[in-house]
Amino acid sequence: MIRTRFAPSPTGYLHIGGARTALYSWAYARRQGGKFFLRIEDTDLERSTEASVQAILDSMAWLALDSDRDFHSADGMPMRQMQRLARYREVADQLIRAGRAYPCYASREELDAMREAQRARGEKPRYDGRWRPEHARGKAPPAGVEPVIRFRNPDDGMVGWADLVKGSIEIANAELDDLVILRADGVPTYNFGVVVDDLDMQITHVIRGDDHVNNTPRQINIYEALGAPLPSFAHVPMILGADGERLSKRHGAVSVTQYREEGYLADALVNFLARLGWSHGDDEIFSREQFVGWFDLAHVSRSAAQFNPEKLAWLNGQYIKAAAPETLVPEVAAHVEANGGTIAGGPPLANVVALLKDRALTLAELADNAMLFYGDIHPSDELLAQHLTADSRPALTELAGVFAALEEWREEAIAAAFDSVLKKHQLKMPKLAMPVRAVVFGQTQTPSLYPVLALAGRERVVGRLQRYAA
Ligand code: GLU
Repeated sequence: MIRTRFAPSPTGYLHIGGARTALYSWAYARRQGGKFFLRIEDTDLERSTEASVQAILDSMAWLALDSDRDFHSADGMPMRQMQRLARYREVADQLIRAGRAYPCYASREELDAMREAQRARGEKPRYDGRWRPEHARGKAPPAGVEPVIRFRNPDDGMVGWADLVKGSIEIANAELDDLVILRADGVPTYNFGVVVDDLDMQITHVIRGDDHVNNTPRQINIYEALGAPLPSFAHVPMILGADGERLSKRHGAVSVTQYREEGYLADALVNFLARLGWSHGDDEIFSREQFVGWFDLAHVSRSAAQFNPEKLAWLNGQYIKAAAPETLVPEVAAHVEANGGTIAGGPPLANVVALLKDRALTLAELADNAMLFYGDIHPSDELLAQHLTADSRPALTELAGVFAALEEWREEAIAAAFDSVLKKHQLKMPKLAMPVRAVVFGQTQTPSLYPVLALAGRERVVGRLQRYAA
């Protein structure tokens, strides 16, 4: 059975790149009827925060990347490394007993001096093995110093694996030094915690960003020292901005939360992330179910993916267009309210959404446009001066009367009434349409006039025509 995991460090919001890694791990497990776990790697005590843990959980829930709860604690939280310190100590002790790890008492100053000397000799700085048991024999541990535990890396030979995305990767053990696996305070380093956790969770496929390729040989050596079977590894290439640099804040929004706030749909973002470094023929728009059905690691690109915000916006627009208006109402309502709009008393929001959704790339944009119906509208003096002319005023007054007398307040009736006034006053469409927009909506940019008037409601339209044209 396939078992994958996503193991973010809660040191910030969930990044687009992290979300894509999560999506691929999730889809890989879901496709094969396997399990997908979430694990919080919170061992960086200075940078980890509860707010980030929450942001990660919220983002995963919003993206609907559901994880299996086998390792959740009683309080419903996913596995967290800081709650497993005893386990890491236990495995470190096991390695010590097997002669594959040892305590190291070297102080920071001593290690700095060691590296300095190595650099001076033109060597690559690396731990020199001074507390390896064979060198430490007869050396008394300094009093009162809590040691770190180092992994005794094999001295020779090669370490490698067949990466499911990148192909075969191999390096010489001579390139690796004895890494710290447990700090003096008992907190594991990343390379150790990740191996113990992946083993305990029986992870079969480690899918993660290729910024970890350099860590994998160290992890493989630890697996081997523990006599444990290796999972498969799949390292997914980075995401780059349009300038070819690794995607960062400089490129605009990079957190899932921010996309949500800007009015992107979770399904659109999932679709976009799926395509960022993976392809299924020429398919651009596909459902979550299709994606899960199609996803495989063989079609993950070996080279970095380029993040294209315009494409994401386009895709989002397509999803908004295809959505049933009611499904967008809650989010749009939140944006309208955040804009200071009042929905109560205005036309039904679902109708407004239905009218505007084909033209909006984000829900925020849709809500901005919806302010035509829910905002406090005050046409500026300039706008009124420009459009309330000797020609338009009498026509506007007349229009108010004709509108008030209509039997039905519907698009066709409004159009016919409008036409009759145009004819009578010998005006061209814009000569009346612009003034009407100006007084009713406070601006001359609106979608097609009759539907917006129909939606705005007779009372409001007639009231404003009367008030301004008089
Ligand atoms: N906590 C690591 C990260 O966020 C996890 C890497 C891994 O998946 O092994 O990069």
